[in-house]
Amino acid sequence: MRKQIAAANWKMNLTYQQAEQLLDEVLNQNIELGPNQQVIFAVPFPYLIMANSEVANMANYHIAAQNCSDKNAGAYTGETSVEMLQSVGIKHVVIGHSERREYFGETAAMLADKLNLCLGAGITPIFCCGEPLPVRENEGQNNYVQQQLVESLFHLSADQLQQVVLAYEPIWAIGTGRTATTQQAQEMHRHLRSVLAAKWGQDVANNITILYGGSVKGANAAELFAAPDVDGGLVGGASLQAAEFSMIIQALKK
Ligand code: PEP
Repeated sequence: MRKQIAAANWKMNLTYQQAEQLLDEVLNQNIELGPNQQVIFAVPFPYLIMANSEVANMANYHIAAQNCSDKNAGAYTGETSVEMLQSVGIKHVVIGHSERREYFGETAAMLADKLNLCLGAGITPIFCCGEPLPVRENEGQNNYVQQQLVESLFHLSADQLQQVVLAYEPIWAIGTGRTATTQQAQEMHRHLRSVLAAKWGQDVANNITILYGGSVKGANAAELFAAPDVDGGLVGGASLQAAEFSMIIQALKK
């Protein structure tokens, strides 16, 4: 079922003490969420248990991992498995962020494996896609992002797909302060929904939550989220400031 989600991606920022303080500052606002709204904090691995216990009694607030291994278990030093995340009560994982694709060589096939592991464990993957600037400048963004879905998602059944949250994050807008216009975001989200509809049918496509990510701030969130196919945001920089992220949560559609 389609939700409205404000997801924070803290990336590799904040000490443990800073993370506790930021989480407290946001949670202490007691922003009331509707049944269809969720707030998710994707926090660094060492903070998952602390953060999960902080939201334990807060309906519709969740903690996510920023990544997981594409392998089940075994001799993969430094990796974190889906089973490990499951065993500490984590129910959401960000998959395929452009930084992981670019700096850590994550391929479409690896992301497909990660999706399979998450779905097998009842964990909601937040699957990121988005085009680099030269592709946008040549107006190739629709085909590029469609291909990312085809390569990593198209093996899923309709039931499996409906457990997935998509995040459209144009790479040229991530951490650059250059936000996609509401029209650019809406056009891509509508395109993504039509790609999903062609493969799994319109009803399934209408059920998929599609977040926009790329320099979302308190000041632009409401306009972006008002677009009919934009179901909230995945937020990097602005999620590191309690006041900014709180504004973004309040900008979610009811
Ligand atoms: C992100 O990293 O997912 C992101 C959208 O970052 P920012 O909001 O800083 O552009």
